[in-house]
Amino acid sequence: MTTYSAKVETHDVKERALVIILLGAPGSGKGTQSVEISHSFNLPHISTGDLFRENIKNQTEIGQKVKSYLDKGALVPDELVFDILFARISKADCSKGYILDGFPRTTLQAHKLEDLLSSSVHFAIFNLVVDDSAVIKRLSGRLVCKKCSRVFHKDSTPPKIEGVCDVCGEELYQRSDDNPEVIKERLRVYYEQTKPLEEYYKNKGQLTPINASGSPAEVLKTLKAKIQEMYPIL
Ligand code: AMP
Repeated sequence: MTTYSAKVETHDVKERALVIILLGAPGSGKGTQSVEISHSFNLPHISTGDLFRENIKNQTEIGQKVKSYLDKGALVPDELVFDILFARISKADCSKGYILDGFPRTTLQAHKLEDLLSSSVHFAIFNLVVDDSAVIKRLSGRLVCKKCSRVFHKDSTPPKIEGVCDVCGEELYQRSDDNPEVIKERLRVYYEQTKPLEEYYKNKGQLTPINASGSPAEVLKTLKAKIQEMYPIL
């Protein structure tokens, strides 16, 4: 895999796709920030969780296979994750790069991603850091747009019109796994299986921590500045 220092040579970026990975606990703002940086840098936002929810909604075969895992807050088996992810990243709109939200979630997934892509992409890996207390508060009041995936919060960032997305006008919904019991399990799974990824990428000199405890706009400003500093061509 290509490691970078502060800045990547622009000719490299032109030749290779840029894969931005956002790590962080559930509720750290990965979805919120992904939607915004996707628009800012014109790169598709790929959320494995969104892909699964879409399949569940459309009652596809894969949707039926993964539903019980999402309902419980458990991780979906790797083969199903890879099937859905690789089908998505092989589409034409991903040729210049994309933003991964919710993947990888284990070091095994990270290895597999590197095996597949390391010779053809640059990885830019950010860790959104927030306190546990903030995470629980954020998840409990979270509202998500059915169409554009923008995230609102009942108390801290409510939509202008109740139940309606400010940006695209579609209906907002509360994720069925954003309930206290499943939140608890998702956090447990995060600490056990996903948090070790921080150490993994840190040891490879690839992890850029981002203080994600501020407002979404503040976090976005920091994140965008970091991406532009590392990839001035974007
Ligand atoms: P998210 O929208 O990222 O919070 O993901 C919602 C749910 O989808 C998780 O609780 C898991 O059940 C499943 N999921 C999403 N991404 C992955 C992944 N990379 N590996 C395994 N399960 C996943």
